Amino acid sequence: MVYQALTEQSVGRFEIADVQGRGWTHPTTPRYPAGMDSINKAKLMDGRALAKRVLEGAAAKVERIRQATGVTPALATVLVGSDPASVTYTRMKRKRCQEAGMRPVRIEMPEGTTTEQLVAKVRELADDALVHGILVQHPVRRPIDKRAVFEAIPLEKDVDGVSSAALGRVILGMPAFIPCTPAGIMQLLVEYKVELDGAHAAVMGRSPILGRPMASMLINHHATVTLCHSRTRALPTIVRGADVVIAAVGRPRFVQGGWIKLGAVVIDAGYNEGNIGDVDFEAAIEPASLITPVPGGVGPMTIATLIDQTADAAAKQLGVDL
Ligand code: NAP
Repeated sequence: MVYQALTEQSVGRFEIADVQGRGWTHPTTPRYPAGMDSINKAKLMDGRALAKRVLEGAAAKVERIRQATGVTPALATVLVGSDPASVTYTRMKRKRCQEAGMRPVRIEMPEGTTTEQLVAKVRELADDALVHGILVQHPVRRPIDKRAVFEAIPLEKDVDGVSSAALGRVILGMPAFIPCTPAGIMQLLVEYKVELDGAHAAVMGRSPILGRPMASMLINHHATVTLCHSRTRALPTIVRGADVVIAAVGRPRFVQGGWIKLGAVVIDAGYNEGNIGDVDFEAAIEPASLITPVPGGVGPMTIATLIDQTADAAAKQLGVDL
């Protein structure tokens, strides 16, 4: 069923070959010789299905915490202003929170909120024993000093992994709440048994919430990583050498099909206006062996990871062994 939805929303001309078995084909003539035909049938990495399982696991944790302590785990979502995309994202996060049996705490602050006011609100939530996770919705726009705001979130409630302490722990491979998008991507790579040990991964984008922690996690899984950004020279050549390609650039259909090595795994973290990813999906699916669709790939895993990490944070704060 999940694949049916994907076809209607984002896949367009492609067809489902086997909904149960997750295999699927496309009707275009293969670009590669007959012997390579099987690799030419890229497999979708189903973020919705995996996210559903992660959310079910989180709901079970929430129930155990409630039975053991009588406390309902709570996630505070803090939104400044009324950017339509951010309003939608925070609504989706609160909805998933409720579905997992958690208590959403909705904080909305007006456009024009100062750094001091936002830091004060985060500190208030940090001191509230009935709030277990704090999420400040990105992007936090200037003139607010977003770093000052993120640093005000205590490590034990930083379920979105935005503080420098969280990033430092991710780099060192220490236990931490990991930024949710790279954490979700890593779960997808594990779920689909992508061999990372010794693989060459090209990560496009070096933001503190996505590209940087992603590169660190891949290194910790023994991949050789090239971290690319807007100043990188010969980007297509680097990507053509990669076994695993992570696109986190914020530019619609930026990564072209001709950049993808035959058999590479392609992860599209991009989410641009109109449900468009950072990868030219229809072109990249030909050479790729595995690929995430947009929507239905990385996005659902980001939210599921947030909810799961909040359940873990609550368990730790309340002394519940899960
Ligand atoms: P960001 O902070 O704007 O960072 C973008 C990165 O891409 C920067 O490192 C930038 O390089 C690099 N870049 C820009 N143009 C480039 C080019 N021409 N060639 C190579 N690199 C280039 O964005 P972000 O927050 O990391 O998000 C990246 C994408 O992921 C966006 O599409 C966003 O919507 C999406 N996203 C999705 C989720 C989800 O849940 N699915 C969550 C978060 C973000 P410089 O550092 O040199 O400027």
